[in-house]
Formats: sequence, C-alpha cells, structure tokens
Amino acid sequence: MSLTEITARIAGAERAAGRPEGTVRLIAVSKVQPLERVEAVLAEGHRVFGENYVQEAAGKWPALRERFGPVELHMIGPLQTNKAKVAVELFDAIHTLDRPSLAEKLARLAEARGSCPALFVQVNTGEESQKAGVLPSDADGFIRDCRALGLPLAGLMCIPPEDQDSRPHFAMLAALAERNGLTGLSMGMSGDFEAAIAAGATHVRVGSAIFGARDYG
Ligand SMILES: *Cc1c(COP(=O)(O)O)cnc(C)c1O
Repeated sequence: MSLTEITARIAGAERAAGRPEGTVRLIAVSKVQPLERVEAVLAEGHRVFGENYVQEAAGKWPALRERFGPVELHMIGPLQTNKAKVAVELFDAIHTLDRPSLAEKLARLAEARGSCPALFVQVNTGEESQKAGVLPSDADGFIRDCRALGLPLAGLMCIPPEDQDSRPHFAMLAALAERNGLTGLSMGMSGDFEAAIAAGATHVRVGSAIFGARDYG
C-alpha cells in the first residue's frame, strides 16, 4: 500500500463516521524501516512520524529534520525513565506515559525546560501482563495524579490484544477519555485504523501498511 492510499482510506473513514475530513492525524510509524523508505515518504510530503526506540530515533531524525525541515515526531514505544531527557528534547508527543516514576521525571524535565511534549496516557485495555500501560481501573487516579504534577495531557493511547477484536478496546478508551475530559485518542494501527476512526481516534499509528513489513533480522 502507499501513503496516498492510506490517506484516502482515512478520509473515507472520517466521512463514514460523520467527522470532518482532515481531523485524524496519521502518524507514519517508521521504526526499524530502511532509511530509503522513510525518505520516500518524506519526499511525498508527509511530516508526522512515530518511533518506538529513543536511540534509533535520535540516530535518525536530527539529520532528516535538517534535510527535510520540521517533522512532528511521536514517541509510541515504552519509555525508560533514564531516556526521558533525550525523549523530551527529540519528540513533540509521547504516547506511552504509563507510571508514576515516569510522570514525575517528565514533570521535572518540563519544569527545567519550560516546555513539555504533548502526553498520552497508555492504558492496558486488555489487562495483558506483558503489555505496558495503566490498568483501566487505575486510569482515573493516574490521570488525576499527572494533572496534579502540571503535565499537559493530550489524551489516551491503547494497543489492543493482537488476537481480539479491537473495537471493544477502542470503545473503552474513548469512554475513559470522555469521562476524564480528554480529547485525544491514539488508537488504530495498520490492521484496524478504520475501526479506530469510527470509534473516535484522533491519532492513528500506521506502520507496515505505509512502509511495508518490518524486517527485524
Ligand atoms: C509498531 C507499532 C505501530 C504500527 O504497527 P503496524 O501494524 O505496522 O501499523 C503502532 N503502534 C505501536 C505502539 C507500535 O509499536
């Protein structure tokens, strides 16, 4: 598939959901992709990208930003506290705020810098033991604690279990956001971004459908 095709499918999903066109942000997930594929998508004019690993992103994006101009970068992978400083300098948004120690660290860094990336709280909607994110039952309290620290919360993020229908997870995330007065919903990947848009996603994170399969070898 191509960027043009994905963009068209997003517009179609926006229309089908009765939402204004152009309101869903497409985050092109470029983790592990060969540089030529990333450069090709930049050359097509796309400027919103997502990465999972701080080190990989830090090695790639400063030079690409120099060549292609401003790029909005989203951190969508688990964030170690000791990488938080590099992350706040590199990323415009962090989608994986999932624990008090990280919230406290980000608050200290934001205070020192006078600015902070947009933050999404990751919710482990499937309550999977191997997956990051706060449990749904802890979400309200964690959001309250983040706000008490002065953190700029943009919304919530989830990664539904691979072997399940994503839709109940999207609906749960939307309900959690609504009852906490949050408008951002980071949900939907290559296989389910249209369902996510139907459920109210504001940010979809699409990797392989744009760039092709990832080669971790
Ligand atoms: C890799 C990744 C994506 C993109 O996945 P695709 O299935 O390739 O679209 C989206 N979100 C997160 C959190 C990811 O780690």
